[in-house]
Amino acid sequence: MKKIQMVDLKGQYEDIKSEVNNSIQEVLETTAFINGPKVHQFQKNLETYLGVKHVIPCANGTDALQIAMMGLGLKPGDEVITADFTFAATVEVIALLQLTPVLVDVNEDDFNINIEAIKKAITPKTKAIVPVHLFGQCANMEAIMDIAKAHNLFVIEDNAQAIGANYTYKNGTKVKAGTIGNVGATSFFPSKNLGCYGDGGAIFTNDDDLAHTLRGIVNHGMYERYHHDVVGVNSRLDSIQAAVLDAKLPNLDAYNKARRHAARKYNAAFKNISQITTPKTVNGCEGICDTCDCHVFHQYTLRVKNIDRDALVKHLNDNQIPCGVYYPIPLHKQKAYLDARYNEEDFTVTNQLVKEVISLPMHTELDDEQIDFITSTIINYLNE
Ligand SMILES: *Cc1c(COP(=O)(O)O)cnc(C)c1O
Repeated sequence: MKKIQMVDLKGQYEDIKSEVNNSIQEVLETTAFINGPKVHQFQKNLETYLGVKHVIPCANGTDALQIAMMGLGLKPGDEVITADFTFAATVEVIALLQLTPVLVDVNEDDFNINIEAIKKAITPKTKAIVPVHLFGQCANMEAIMDIAKAHNLFVIEDNAQAIGANYTYKNGTKVKAGTIGNVGATSFFPSKNLGCYGDGGAIFTNDDDLAHTLRGIVNHGMYERYHHDVVGVNSRLDSIQAAVLDAKLPNLDAYNKARRHAARKYNAAFKNISQITTPKTVNGCEGICDTCDCHVFHQYTLRVKNIDRDALVKHLNDNQIPCGVYYPIPLHKQKAYLDARYNEEDFTVTNQLVKEVISLPMHTELDDEQIDFITSTIINYLNE
């Protein structure tokens, strides 16, 4: 059996080596390292793939979120509602821009931002909602867009973990994650579903004026060379990373399919194990089918009950099975984001999830033998 890894970037590269190498070589030959034709080519191809009018590439996913908030003109003191159970980047940029983060609880079944909690958190100062499409499937966007409309709020989708996922409206219409709100932000960090070989990110929008504003902000606030109309940042996707991404984009659907295959195998193995709750797929998608992209499994995350989760983590590591706890501490308990206005009763789900979650190896190169080894190691441990 191949050594099990949390993410197997080497194995994936071996499969697409010539496409990636050729694409990088083109950049080297032209030496157009910044804003070269590869960046434009990837931008256009991603726009087509997502069915969105504008993709604005940038340096990483954290910048993508920050630039989205700058582009919307959010001002210090504006309140921005986001999920308590996510990677810190989401709340970090809110705080960095001197906006006021308002963390709210998530759902127990899909780990995504809770709609009732959003409603409860709205005040006259609320200006935006940032749903995070956690672990690979969309938050309840239809409900979020309704709330946003009723209260005149912006919606910024943190799509770092769900690129390629579909969101299905109640009427059956499907759209790509990250293209529903005013703006979407994603990351091309190497371990993401579409990862480059360094840092990268992008912003998506269907709003022409906002797209124009964002294109200037990523490039020092310049719309005309050496004319700085707004305060911007230096956040560009470099051409070599764009070359890698453009070579990988045609494989994204196949990659997500491989992740779903692994998730289905995991689900089947754990079906009758009472201490384990397998991840639930939502958005009109029961179970994990072969064809739809409702969940792209950036992470495969179990909840375990009536056992010592940390002892299980240790047992897996002792058996050369890597695993992760995403996330071990709710954001509202992180020193940087403490706020006297929070009440613990409002975070019952996150407070519980941090004790129960465990993410198993999930990547495009996992084979059945490895999955069987992982699932039997867990099941044998629970039966001991
Ligand atoms: C990875 C990630 C980010 C940040 O992306 P970087 O490219 O690492 O800056 C933001 N939000 C979420 C939910 C993420 O998973």
